[in-house]
Amino acid sequence: ASEAPVVEVRGLHKTFRVGFFRKKVEAVRGIDFEVRRGEIFGLLGPNGAGKTTSIKSILRLIFPTAGTIKLFGSLSPSPEALRRLGYLPESPYVYQYLRAHEFLDLCGRLCGLDARTRAERADEMIARVGLGHAVDRPIGRFSKGMLQRIGLAQALLHDPELLILDEPMSGLDPIGRKEVRDLIVEERQRGKTILFTSHILSDVERLCDRVAIVHRGKVTAYGALSQLLKPEVQRTEIELEG
Ligand code: ATP
Repeated sequence: ASEAPVVEVRGLHKTFRVGFFRKKVEAVRGIDFEVRRGEIFGLLGPNGAGKTTSIKSILRLIFPTAGTIKLFGSLSPSPEALRRLGYLPESPYVYQYLRAHEFLDLCGRLCGLDARTRAERADEMIARVGLGHAVDRPIGRFSKGMLQRIGLAQALLHDPELLILDEPMSGLDPIGRKEVRDLIVEERQRGKTILFTSHILSDVERLCDRVAIVHRGKVTAYGALSQLLKPEVQRTEIELEG
């Protein structure tokens, strides 16, 4: 038998109730996909497609309306299992007054790293994401691109097996985008599994082994991108970029 997928999403539905009349918003309407060990998997889709809702469901940050999600082969992963993943949220960083170093130290404490490992890993990650010039600056004064970088440093800090990155290239200039792509490729070479979301086809095209294209809460195409980029399916994808 082949190895269990690292992430397995089956029949995921999420309906939000909004406003005074509790109007239904069907953010996710039946999503299935799996992420295999060692691959770079992309969730591609326009704004509002349901990517973030899917990611948050996988992370147990929101409770699905229906469906099952296995992480590392388990329907109810332990806190220890959850530490085997690193997460870059779409819009994080509530700690405006902490400096980059202090923020990473706090994150390191939360994942149970000892003081020495925290210091070493924080230095290493700050250098790796190109924030060496800004270690002493409060996060509240960071640009959007710098926030993405500190977020990536935080996601990688405890050397997790699985990286879940929500729009990791957003807010970056072309050089920054390339740096993040290179970092994702390096992490995969180190044996990591990566799941990331994007609304930009070219970023996904350059990186992913397999993708799920999400549109209005459903997966409209799933598999190796080389297969999906055959002429008959190309049109829908190009429309996503608009
Ligand atoms: P984006 O890149 O804009 O975040 P997305 O593909 O990640 O797009 P989601 O954030 O998952 O999309 O949103 C899907 C739909 O669900 C949208 O219509 C959004 O407004 C709605 N939605 C998401 N979170 C909530 C919430 N907490 N309450 C109500 N509606 C929500």
